[in-house]
Amino acid sequence: MNIVLLGGPGSGKGTVSNLLEETQNMGHIATGDMFREEIKNETDLGKKAQEYINKGNLVPDDITINMLKGKINQFKDFHGVVFDGFPRNVEQAKALEDMLEEQGQKVDLALFLDIPDEDIIYRTVKRRICSNKECGAIYNLEYKKPKVDGICDICGSKLIQRKDDNEETITERLKVYHEQSKELIEFYEEQNLLYRVKLHASVNITKEMIKEWLENYNKNR
Ligand code: ADP
Ligand code: ZN
Repeated sequence: MNIVLLGGPGSGKGTVSNLLEETQNMGHIATGDMFREEIKNETDLGKKAQEYINKGNLVPDDITINMLKGKINQFKDFHGVVFDGFPRNVEQAKALEDMLEEQGQKVDLALFLDIPDEDIIYRTVKRRICSNKECGAIYNLEYKKPKVDGICDICGSKLIQRKDDNEETITERLKVYHEQSKELIEFYEEQNLLYRVKLHASVNITKEMIKEWLENYNKNR
């Protein structure tokens, strides 16, 4: 099963991905994480992407789509792939269809994490992430505090704040999100692949919740 996650910045896509990876043995492709890795390694791609990311804009489709090519077949042995942060517009959604089709696969579910804008700003400003890439745990200083300040509960690494998780960039990211998401949601709705869950900032997403969503989705098809 291949799952596409839709939802604004800080809507919980990363948390859902981590849980799906853990419980369903799914591969995980997060374009935001891939860009951050390229930036850290100071690659040409990273340098190009950084300009857009720091402003809260989308990286151009050709750069993003090229970065993904060849990544999907790395997960052949997994129980499908969860796409986090891709596609972000219909252009990218069509490119994903093509990439999957080449592997004899398709998108099976578009899970839309629907959270109010006020909650998004709050949630992203307070977000802290584990600096250990292998771990990638996500915390919130208000709702999901680590046991020890600044330290990951799971692996003991330092927690860091994403450079683009400041109010100014988030406001721009939200604007970009609203411009693109309506069409994208309709794209998946028309194919009868959309499943919407209503969330709030204070909701801690659990394994049980995800299990229930998947069951309900399959039941109602
Ligand atoms: P969030 O979901 O919190 O906005 P991401 O980690 O998914 O965070 O993305 C961070 C930034 O990386 C985005 O604001 C955008 O600039 C860039 N980015 C990530 N995925 C894509 C994509 N599919 N297309 C274009 N830009 C992307
Ligand atoms: Zn960790």
